[in-house]
Amino acid sequence: MNTKELNDKYVLPTYGRADVEFVSGDNARLIDINAKEYIDFTSGIGVVSVGHANKRVNSAITKQISKITHISNLYNIAPQAKAAQKIVKASGLEMQCFFGNSGAEANEGAIKIARKWGEKDGEIKKYKIITLQQSFHGRTITTVKATGQESMHNYFGPFPDGFVYADDISHVESLLDNHTCGVMIELVQGEGGVQPQDKKEVKALEKLLKEKNILLIVDEVQTGGYRTGEFLASQVYDIKPDIVTLAKGVGGGVPIGIVMTSLTGVLTAGDHGSTFGGNYLSTAATCEVVDILNEMKADGSLDDTIQYFNDKLEVFFQEYKILFTQKVGIGLMCGLRVRDADTLASIISHATQEGVMVLKAGRNTLRFLPPLTITKGEIDEGFNSLTRAVSSL
Ligand SMILES: *Cc1c(COP(=O)(O)O)cnc(C)c1O
Repeated sequence: MNTKELNDKYVLPTYGRADVEFVSGDNARLIDINAKEYIDFTSGIGVVSVGHANKRVNSAITKQISKITHISNLYNIAPQAKAAQKIVKASGLEMQCFFGNSGAEANEGAIKIARKWGEKDGEIKKYKIITLQQSFHGRTITTVKATGQESMHNYFGPFPDGFVYADDISHVESLLDNHTCGVMIELVQGEGGVQPQDKKEVKALEKLLKEKNILLIVDEVQTGGYRTGEFLASQVYDIKPDIVTLAKGVGGGVPIGIVMTSLTGVLTAGDHGSTFGGNYLSTAATCEVVDILNEMKADGSLDDTIQYFNDKLEVFFQEYKILFTQKVGIGLMCGLRVRDADTLASIISHATQEGVMVLKAGRNTLRFLPPLTITKGEIDEGFNSLTRAVSSL
């Protein structure tokens, strides 16, 4: 049986997969089983931030696993401690990290920290967490419930209590009460449609929550790891959250999830844990990924790439205003709003045929999350293919 046949027989049908099978990659270039080449404007949904088959990351991983891969969090793990130091330094925040394996798990950790803090703080138990419509916080029972849209809550209940949804940031204040322990937001809503929050509103929210002694939790699972041009989007927005979550891009393709917080005294031994989280393999990869990205930020090449990609995207957008209404996003987390949501699926499938991978976000957004290491040549090639794809519509 080929891979599709094996999938159909043995893998649960939770994804609408395109019948494409990649066998190798090199930075932003992918090769499928028919030796056809593609430019990857998705980086595996913002994961392969330093490109496919990155030599430095692969060498760090293989060096590490030739010695030790896993031992459990009952012992000191050198690359985990180093990864924590690198991440805290890059964030510019005074925090400590907990390591898990995914974005949803990182958000579960954030919710646990906020809830435990809410129990200790004051007499009334604070447990409510406000999140936004068009958010996405994960697929576990709790993070599904933390995600605003009713359509995410169709099955799987009963859910944990205590999630309250605001239409947008300006609506948060009216929902705060004595039981609210935190507000969790994405600074650029990813799955919801590459929608950046307004900076003034975010700053005002930060101030309001400080005054009311309510935690600001920022889900940076998609925005973190320099996706928006700084290590955290919180730096772009000039805010200091109480809790930040990371995953996708900081592992360079190895599963990792991190919750970091300035509330370093809340969780104590036995309150939280993970069997795999923060093991030698994932954290050795993360150390190298963060080093590479720090260097790219310092030497200006990341900012160059962001500029070049966005200039190309702007030209493409201007050329095809018949299809698109708006260019959205920050850094290398970009989108084009499609005039007619029905054309989105055909744009994506034509793009695949022409050899460029792109994503959908929300109902009507064509989403771009290229590797942060993408070269100018790869960007040019990708947009040439995309132009062929949309002109054949
Ligand atoms: C992808 C994503 C998640 C979920 O991450 P998983 O690793 O799939 O659990 C959570 N929040 C945001 C903002 C995301 O983009």
